[in-house]
Amino acid sequence: MKAVYFEKHGGPDVLQFGERPNPVTRPGTVKIDVHASSLNHIDVFLRGGLPGITIPLPHIPGCDAAGVVSEVGEGVTGVKVGQRVLMNPSITCGKCEFCLRGDATLCIHYQLVGETMSGTCCEHIVIPAENAIPIPDSMSFADAASVPLVFTTAWRMLITRGRLRAGEDILILGATAGVGIACIQIAKVAGARVFAAASSAEKLALAKELGADILIDYATEDFPKRVREETGKRGVDVVVDYVGKDTWVKSLRSLSRGGRLVTCGATTGYNPEEDLRHIFFRQLEVIGSTMGSRNELMAPLKLIWAGRMKPVVGAVYQLKDLASAHRAMEERRVMGKIVIKVKD
Ligand SMILES: [Zn+2]
Repeated sequence: MKAVYFEKHGGPDVLQFGERPNPVTRPGTVKIDVHASSLNHIDVFLRGGLPGITIPLPHIPGCDAAGVVSEVGEGVTGVKVGQRVLMNPSITCGKCEFCLRGDATLCIHYQLVGETMSGTCCEHIVIPAENAIPIPDSMSFADAASVPLVFTTAWRMLITRGRLRAGEDILILGATAGVGIACIQIAKVAGARVFAAASSAEKLALAKELGADILIDYATEDFPKRVREETGKRGVDVVVDYVGKDTWVKSLRSLSRGGRLVTCGATTGYNPEEDLRHIFFRQLEVIGSTMGSRNELMAPLKLIWAGRMKPVVGAVYQLKDLASAHRAMEERRVMGKIVIKVKD
């Protein structure tokens, strides 16, 4: 099958377009003809190489996919050949202590498609049948491939871990990146007032269109100062910070007493300065979150299908041009999701 893969870690140039073995369907799995994949920051990090994560090489990247079921393995019920589906990228064991207590994202055998497993930037993938989620005919493959990783991550971070409630104030940094776009919309549905911080007027216009109430250009404005002004010196209840090193201390300063800082990543570096006095004197919570369970994917999907939220596709690249798509993401040129078109 046609695929993009890399044989060594490095810049976008290590991505090669060529032939890879067609995966084989096993009992309990389904094969999906991939129509669309989408790019996430983790793809760029994994391609460059991450300390502590060993990837079998050559590796096909890509954590998101939507397409059509082309084969079902022995014993599979509930999914049929010809069905349009999107993929839940989290593979969990269902048997460990954490799976059994309902925290599948803490599974000790947790695997993410496209991370330690072969990914979706190719023509065919084989996944456990329960990871294939049927989609309505009205949903395009590009939109469907834009949802799983970012909306699941945002839902778990804001609703499950961050306990966001109606009437609270939330500050979202990097508001027009993939996760940010999901966070703005989920926070609005939850009834919060949304402070969106992004680095250009164009990005803030998109944040506004998605429902953000207060717009902060943090390339030119000191965002903790603006937050204090807008909240009568109180601060916000929740800050979403996956920027990391560049913004961490400012995020802590933007919180109200008893506020919660939620994080699912650190795109500018994972060793920020920390002022522990903020945390104990003002009784702040720092809450980590990563990916989400099937329920945390289904919750935003239902709201998208009901027309209350939407995926935002910022650019579409052909599979053979994946290296250009990686460059666009690294240079932060695209607002919204970068979709990789595999098949019409
Ligand atoms: Zn498990």
